[in-house]
Amino acid sequence: MPEVTPMMRQYFSIKERNTDCILFFRLGDFYEMFGDDALTASKELDLTLTSRDRRAEDPDEKIPMCGVPYHSAEGYIGRLIAKGYKIAICEQLEDPATAKGLVDRDIVRIVTPGTLIESSMLDEGKSNYLCALYVGALDNAACFADLSTGEISVSYFSGADVGHLLNEVAAFSPAEAVLNAGAYENGELHHLLSDKLGCLWQQDDGRFDPAQSLSRIAGQFGVTSADEAGIGGSPAAVCAVGALLSYMADTQKTDLSHLSNLRINSGGKFMELDIQTLRSLELVSSSRTLEKKGSLLWVLDKTKTPMGRRLLRSWVLRPLVSTVEVGRRLAAVEELFSETVLRSELMLTLRNVGDMERLIGKIVYGTAGGRDLKALQYSIVQLPKILALLAPMKSGLMAELKKIDDLQDIGALIAKTIEDDPPFSVREGGFIRQGVSEEVDYLRGLLKDSTGAMAAIETKERERTGKKLKVGYNKVFGYYIEIPRALSDNVPGDYIRKQTLSNCERFITQELKELETTLLTAKDRVAALEYEIFADLRERIASEVGRIQATSYSVASFDALCSLAETAAKNNYCMPEVDMSGVIDIRDGRHPVVEKMQTESLFVPNDTFMDMDGARTLIITGPNMAGKSTYMRQTALIVLMAQMGSFVPARSARIGVVDRVFTRIGASDDLSAGKSTFMVEMTEVAEILKSATSRSLLILDEIGRGTSTYDGMAVARAVLEYCTDRRKLGAKALFSTHYHELTAIEKETGGVKNYSISAKKRGGDIIFLRKIVPGGADDSYGIEVAGLAGIPDSVIKRAKAVLAALESDRKPASAPSKKPEPGDGQMTLLDLGGSEIAETLKKTDLNTLTPLEALNLLFELKKKI
Ligand code: ADP
Ligand code: MG
Repeated sequence: MPEVTPMMRQYFSIKERNTDCILFFRLGDFYEMFGDDALTASKELDLTLTSRDRRAEDPDEKIPMCGVPYHSAEGYIGRLIAKGYKIAICEQLEDPATAKGLVDRDIVRIVTPGTLIESSMLDEGKSNYLCALYVGALDNAACFADLSTGEISVSYFSGADVGHLLNEVAAFSPAEAVLNAGAYENGELHHLLSDKLGCLWQQDDGRFDPAQSLSRIAGQFGVTSADEAGIGGSPAAVCAVGALLSYMADTQKTDLSHLSNLRINSGGKFMELDIQTLRSLELVSSSRTLEKKGSLLWVLDKTKTPMGRRLLRSWVLRPLVSTVEVGRRLAAVEELFSETVLRSELMLTLRNVGDMERLIGKIVYGTAGGRDLKALQYSIVQLPKILALLAPMKSGLMAELKKIDDLQDIGALIAKTIEDDPPFSVREGGFIRQGVSEEVDYLRGLLKDSTGAMAAIETKERERTGKKLKVGYNKVFGYYIEIPRALSDNVPGDYIRKQTLSNCERFITQELKELETTLLTAKDRVAALEYEIFADLRERIASEVGRIQATSYSVASFDALCSLAETAAKNNYCMPEVDMSGVIDIRDGRHPVVEKMQTESLFVPNDTFMDMDGARTLIITGPNMAGKSTYMRQTALIVLMAQMGSFVPARSARIGVVDRVFTRIGASDDLSAGKSTFMVEMTEVAEILKSATSRSLLILDEIGRGTSTYDGMAVARAVLEYCTDRRKLGAKALFSTHYHELTAIEKETGGVKNYSISAKKRGGDIIFLRKIVPGGADDSYGIEVAGLAGIPDSVIKRAKAVLAALESDRKPASAPSKKPEPGDGQMTLLDLGGSEIAETLKKTDLNTLTPLEALNLLFELKKKI
């Protein structure tokens, strides 16, 4: 077998260690990819595929190759990362010009979706998490870190059940995860990571070794034990944090000292929300478009800085459960709410603050340039102004957040060192201020005034020799002293004769040679010196990472609080009263998103009253499109908003904190999820019944709809009874249903109240009143809704006839049924002789039919005729 070329041998040995990555192999000004990597990259990036000789003696055997210029690599890397690849960056470790033989190369960094730091690849409104998941027999844990800001936290749970862990992962929604074997073997975790979160994950059991984890934790956080790090009680947490640090270290190969403050997401501080609830309540993205527009966050977000935006997002995803914590946030929001002028000035000032969290991340990481340092300086300039504006604020949280270091020393240091408008590159000089370094100033002087330097030497040499000489320059000899031939005898001994021309001779001196070298290299020297000064400065600032992170967090909090206050003022929200009463009493509540999205018509406010006693469960009936789902979600959203510390869209609201909110939206409403089978629905309901407590709020929107009428109704009724029964669950539940028969429960069990959302028939039309009223609905208005949906008049007419026929045939049920309308329905049906048709119709419950199903049914019937 012939030998491969030395460079390809180097390539293969590096590739062998990084098989799960696309290898960007630096060759001069390009990153080249070979083999399968080249095939993949050329396809994904539309690059031209070429080839290269694999073996020296065998030019016939080629290996596919493609490449990207190194200066534009970031864009290509970003595109590959977005498609779920990992990129190993292999650099030349020595200067090819001076290297003997093959240039030494090695991996300097592995870019992965969960370890991004480049602004171009990150969404500024969203944290980007890497996650390490450990599932053991006795406990489990997840560690999350955002390399771009240095945020790192761990959540841990005891017991074998991974339910809490799943919800934690859903809330953080990591871009990438590393799993131990136990986590890897968990099907639910698989499903969540792959199908729901689109996370890139891999098993990496070796990283979870407890002893190694402990020593990594000690090194990273400067502690001597797990106890000191706050995770002594959880072996799982130790392994998860250790694995995350190990993965970070192996992929980043650089300073990670900004990951210095390990936060513990201790149980019970935040409300736990499962992924169904997060999604169906559209907290941070619309379930239809997956965009932020149409979500609760979209309504609440009036932040002015990227870090405020990310913090607010995390508040929305993790409402609080402690009335004290909620009260602190609410008090701070109220202060800002009532100071309109101050608030708008604060927002104007915050607008000038940059992404300090990610700037310090880049500074520590070592990728920050001159412009990044300036952005940090300009942000720091705003801090005294912000603190002055906030001076009158007295609430506890505000007082605490205001106790910050205003970083003026750091701002001044940058201001003093770096020019106002530095170039993009820090390698080419031209951005260190005059007066910072004598040597830089001297060299710049030289460069600017090389003719002056020559003239000075000329004068000096004339005086020394008394001869009429000149200093000149040409490309061949560089600088020289020219003396007419007549005078060229008896030159000083240090003159070196270089050239003899017809009428003059040219000499050089040591001093001239030095000047020449100085001038020729001055440009490079200045650039190198400037970079050195810059790198020193960057390191100095990096050593202040803790101070800058703490201040950034306060500024982010001001921004997020101010955003909540601004939204409250603009949208006419009220301050909720949050307590432990177990009561939810909302007057004139509105749906925060629907009222904003719906521009043509006014939103009709509604009251909600629930308690732990007679009004635990509300059964909500009403025609399709009446507003049942909207009403139930609005109630859940108002509760969540209150627990986030936000004002709420209502005239008044008293919210007894709930420990969790669960939602289950009926199969037919959940089409976006793709596979809304009855089975999925029932699994979710089962999960809710298992996890809910008497302090939970349940939103059950038309459950049991995914199966046949009687089955569905039976399941719905049983679930309803279970929720209501205080010996079982006794939770607060909002329960919408098409099964009017269920309204009978109100009389049979305590704690249930019937409500309906009213609609009126006018002529053949239906008018939605959008008002919730006590009592069950008496009509589904299914046919009218079908009419609204644009089903042809003749079909609607037939449907009415069919309905009349059915109703005259129906046995009285617990819900009141309608009298047949005058018409010839039954006659016609009999005329058609369709006993089969009649049978089908008998079995059909129009109350549960969607307009589309009704149309399909008519289609079927007509076919039979
Ligand atoms: P249902 O669940 O009863 O079928 P939805 O809750 O889906 O009805 O409401 C249908 C539409 O009615 C919503 O998309 C919204 O545009 C409108 N709507 C609902 N509630 C209100 C309200 N209180 N005020 C104004 N419009 C409303
Ligand atoms: Mg609905």
